[in-house]
Amino acid sequence: MKAGTIIPKKAGSFSIRDVEIPQVHENEVLVKVLMLGLDGTDKEIGEGLYGEAPKGCDYLIEGHESLGEVVQIGSAVKGMSVGDIVVATVRRPDDCINCKAGESDMCIKGDYTERGIKGMHGYMTEYYAEIPEYLVKIPVAIKNSAVMLEPMSIAEKAVKQIFEVQKRMVWEPKTAVVLGTGTVGLFAAMILRLRGLKVISVDRTSENPVKDKIYGAFGITHINSAEIPISDIQSKVRLPIDIAVELTGNPAVIKEALGLTRLNGIVCLLSVTGGSYEESFDMAKFNYGMVLGNKVIIGSVNSNIKHFMQGAEDMQTIEKLHPKLLESMITERVPLESFKSYDILSSKKNIKVVITIAESTATKPNDA
Ligand code: BGC
Ligand code: ZN
Repeated sequence: MKAGTIIPKKAGSFSIRDVEIPQVHENEVLVKVLMLGLDGTDKEIGEGLYGEAPKGCDYLIEGHESLGEVVQIGSAVKGMSVGDIVVATVRRPDDCINCKAGESDMCIKGDYTERGIKGMHGYMTEYYAEIPEYLVKIPVAIKNSAVMLEPMSIAEKAVKQIFEVQKRMVWEPKTAVVLGTGTVGLFAAMILRLRGLKVISVDRTSENPVKDKIYGAFGITHINSAEIPISDIQSKVRLPIDIAVELTGNPAVIKEALGLTRLNGIVCLLSVTGGSYEESFDMAKFNYGMVLGNKVIIGSVNSNIKHFMQGAEDMQTIEKLHPKLLESMITERVPLESFKSYDILSSKKNIKVVITIAESTATKPNDA
């Protein structure tokens, strides 16, 4: 079968090669990949900045945002059928306490693997084998957008973490600022709207037809920070900001994000900055604000199956409220055999780029 592969730490090493179809053990199912989404992590892997091959292999099958169809069931598997449409999670546990508790996204040891990223082959291929524990069944209502369930789950985890941390007091958040309007940023904004908050999405674009439709449908206020500096947002919207979610990874933006929230507010950092980048910072002022403001900064990475399930639920709600809006976020589709380079991800007009791998042959869509 064909697989899109890279040689870790080697820029521009992407190639499509022929690899063996994986063996299916009795506790696994075989999934035929229909589509694969690409994100900034894939781009970094393609540029040789990130990524690790499985032990004993000199290449890595890329890809961690998948949508597939179950085509074969191991003899010991229960609760899955041929034809089920599924999305697979990314991280696989080590033996730490959090991993053992089913929360490998909170791994404390760091020996986890991640499919398509760290030490385990991913989904940019025709088939993969997996145990049902890491698969989410996709209801038919969202089958056209569920290739984005992985990035949705990242936003779900972040929002969940924010609310968990803020259980430290009586908290009635009203306003959130989301810095960045890529796929995860748009999902975070939508989820926060579904939870009843006023949301301000910030980026540096004046208009984008798909994003403008989302802002309109959800009642999200959009601010172009090329016109209104981030430090002026609070006075502009005249609302104290309870939550700031940072998704740009841009050090100058991160610095602004850290000063955005009101007393007891929380900042969630959700995007990594590659390389090194120094930014001068008034540490005294920052410390003063943090201490006297009871403020919190959290980082959040990855997601576990519960966040995928919450994501699937929210995607169904969004689909009901605004049919086809989610799938309009897929702005480019490229067949696997035509995919050559991650440069396609640099285009500002693209939200989600998807590699198409196969058509579904399922006659029985999941209906619940
Ligand atoms: C993925 C996460 C992963 C992270 C770090 C992100 O792009 O969505 O699942 O944990 O990269 O490798
Ligand atoms: Zn662990």
